[in-house]
Amino acid sequence: MNSVKAPPGDWDCKVLLSRIPKNGEPCHETFELALDAPIEHWGQEYAPDGLVIADARFASANERILAVVSVRAAFRLPCSRCLRETGVEAAGELKYLFSLRPARDSRDTGGESAPEEDGDVDVIQVDSFQAELDVTQCVWEALLLSLPEGALCKPGCKGLCPICGRDRNEGDCGCRDDDLDPRLAVLRDLDV
Ligand SMILES: [Zn+2]
Ligand SMILES: [Zn+2]
Repeated sequence: MNSVKAPPGDWDCKVLLSRIPKNGEPCHETFELALDAPIEHWGQEYAPDGLVIADARFASANERILAVVSVRAAFRLPCSRCLRETGVEAAGELKYLFSLRPARDSRDTGGESAPEEDGDVDVIQVDSFQAELDVTQCVWEALLLSLPEGALCKPGCKGLCPICGRDRNEGDCGCRDDDLDPRLAVLRDLDV
């Protein structure tokens, strides 16, 4: 099981700074990433169904680097109503601005600071730019945020009968609502 906090240890999404043109022209880098275990998120398990494809666009401007990270991946998870395994697509994009930390406070904090919000761009302050820019954590964040909260096996899935548990998509089980135990009526109203 992958921890939500950190990307898989073998993920390595880096770009050589020398590849990013100084004149502001963007450059692309594509990463194909494997998940060997489900991701646990939103209280359920997302089983990977193929590779995670991440595309990062980098552009340099005024000693700062803008990284636009987009991800797409396929997962399988239980239908929110009948629990049948269902395929879902995850796709999303996040923007990050890597900028140098002002020199005066670089001694106090050290390392990379937590991202600050700046509109729809996350600002990540670094003490210095190394030969490579690492966006592994950015790709992971973009992937988590792109996961749909739930799935339906089909529009209008009828779900499970709250009385006998039968899949109502497969036919009427014959249970009548007036037979419903008042304690189970609560379950019915939950629209599970
Ligand atoms: Zn369903
Ligand atoms: Zn039933």
